[in-house]
Amino acid sequence: MSDFIQLLPDNIANQIAAGEVIQRPASVVKELMENAIDAGATKIDINIKDAGKTLIQVVDNGNGMSESDAVLCFQRHATSKIRTADDLFALTTKGFRGEALASVAAIAHVEMRTKTEDADTGRSIVIEGSNIKSNEDTVCPKGTSFEIKNLFYNVPARRNFLKKDSTEFKHIQDEFERIAFSHANIHLTLKHNGTEIHNLPAAVLRKRIVNILGPNFNDRLVPIEESTEIVQLKGFVLKPEFAKKSRGEQFFFVNDRYFRSPYFNHAITKAFEGLVQHGKFPGYFLYLDVDPQKIDVNVHPTKTEIKFEEEKFIYSILLSGIRLALGKYNISPSLDFERETSFDIPHSMHSQPATEPSIKVNENYNPFSTSSRTGSGGGSKAKDNFSKAIMDQGFGSKEANSEDWANFYKIEDESPVEEEKTAIPFEEFKDSETTFIVKGSYIISSSKSGLILIHARRAIEQIVYSVMINRFISNPIESQSLLFPIEKEVSKSEESCWLENQSLLQQLGFNGEIKDGILQVAAVPSVLQEEAISKAIDELFATLAYQDIEKGEIAHAFIASIARSAAMKNLNLSTNESIQGLIDQLFQCENHTYSPRNKKIIETISLDEIAQKFN
Ligand code: ADP
Ligand code: MG
Repeated sequence: MSDFIQLLPDNIANQIAAGEVIQRPASVVKELMENAIDAGATKIDINIKDAGKTLIQVVDNGNGMSESDAVLCFQRHATSKIRTADDLFALTTKGFRGEALASVAAIAHVEMRTKTEDADTGRSIVIEGSNIKSNEDTVCPKGTSFEIKNLFYNVPARRNFLKKDSTEFKHIQDEFERIAFSHANIHLTLKHNGTEIHNLPAAVLRKRIVNILGPNFNDRLVPIEESTEIVQLKGFVLKPEFAKKSRGEQFFFVNDRYFRSPYFNHAITKAFEGLVQHGKFPGYFLYLDVDPQKIDVNVHPTKTEIKFEEEKFIYSILLSGIRLALGKYNISPSLDFERETSFDIPHSMHSQPATEPSIKVNENYNPFSTSSRTGSGGGSKAKDNFSKAIMDQGFGSKEANSEDWANFYKIEDESPVEEEKTAIPFEEFKDSETTFIVKGSYIISSSKSGLILIHARRAIEQIVYSVMINRFISNPIESQSLLFPIEKEVSKSEESCWLENQSLLQQLGFNGEIKDGILQVAAVPSVLQEEAISKAIDELFATLAYQDIEKGEIAHAFIASIARSAAMKNLNLSTNESIQGLIDQLFQCENHTYSPRNKKIIETISLDEIAQKFN
């Protein structure tokens, strides 16, 4: 019997490992900048040619490396940053895996010069595809400089996969800015093809943000500061009127490291509730300081997701800290242009306890199933009519393509859903004989423990959304060809968004081609009314423009906006039956407390609160 198993040669193993760490030129920039910061640099200069495809140069004035470290640093798992397993649980450096330089050296031509404070001469090392080509003394200042050329020269699949220069450079700029926002005390410069993009001298945080985003921002920043045993929170939110259609200005940092968190983002959205227009995202630059033992940065290879031990607590600090700050700066809900209520909700009811997201995607869940979970009202005629109205929104039954949607579950996992105990159980309604409609918009019903108020339009929005999202997980949205294609002028960046997201757009029911800057839309989701198509495409572009957005999030945003227009159209509460049907349907949604846009659907007024009004 012959043996089949062979050990991979080191250079191939390194190339494979490199794929995880280095996805594109921006990853190299990030890794090299982080190394420079870990080396105590006070100035880092970055020089890029052709979006990093030709050259990435990073020069720092940090501690430098000794002659032997200068060679060792390119070996896999070579790191000066952790010694014992315990160190892993209390990281204070950016790097710790010892993989970045080995990875870069495996897939590019690298030249490094480095010198420590007390060495007489520096070292210059040239390494290509993991092979050292030269290693000699050189004259150079204290610190380290890297020149990375011909990235992915030996991994053509990766190289061909790179996007056009403007896109790749945007990624580099994003990484650079994230680091710049979180290291105001380091002088950073960025050049692209000889043009200076940023020159950011060391400064206080506010000045750094303004230096990056422009002088207009100075007046837009509202400072946040909260200090507790578990977390120190500081930073700024943008005044609500500067909320944008894209999420470009949303930044979380923990211990000076950028991270993404749909969960914490929900706390911010909630703090801005009623102050920001539908479909717009408030801006923020929020810095958390927590004990490094209480976070785990190890969960994601590119380290933008972080696990927090005390995330619930931090959620509530974010929520209250921002509300307080907005209040202090007199940005109170009196500016609330969105509120349509004819009566004011008592302020005490706004101060809900912090809620936690839970995993809530159930593929098998069918909101139209006759064996309904509540067992009451199932199969009533009104309900069937209502179901039909939603079914008529036109969802297809094409072959499932769930593989592509692995991401989708991830986002849903993190999507904020009201905690079980604060959700109102259907039983509350059971004995309720009477429901009232106020102003055609609100359903008021007596319950065992007081009154329940339902925002009818949001309820419909949530029902349509739940149905669509549950189906969408396995089926593309049904598409309808247009007799006459719709034409729309698009910018260069919109053009690349459209091309990069072809398969997602098809899943969403869109089909179109771009010629000479004109998008010709040949097919659209059949749920879209003709007059809504143009706006839907604009919204889609606004969402796609956000570089980091996940597929699932785009789908969520799009389906939420369809749900919203469906709700506008379908608000019919003329009969008792239609009201009861709506309540039944709402309670069959897994989340019936918040709409897809995180707006409250249900409120309660307890008997106590009613009694208090007569005090
Ligand atoms: P890690 O950062 O995870 O330790 P890297 O592969 O990024 O792994 O770097 C390996 C080692 O090389 C680092 O631990 C550090 O000792 C050294 N090093 C890398 N870049 C620099 C730099 N700019 N200045 C000084 N030392 C550096
Ligand atoms: Mg590193």
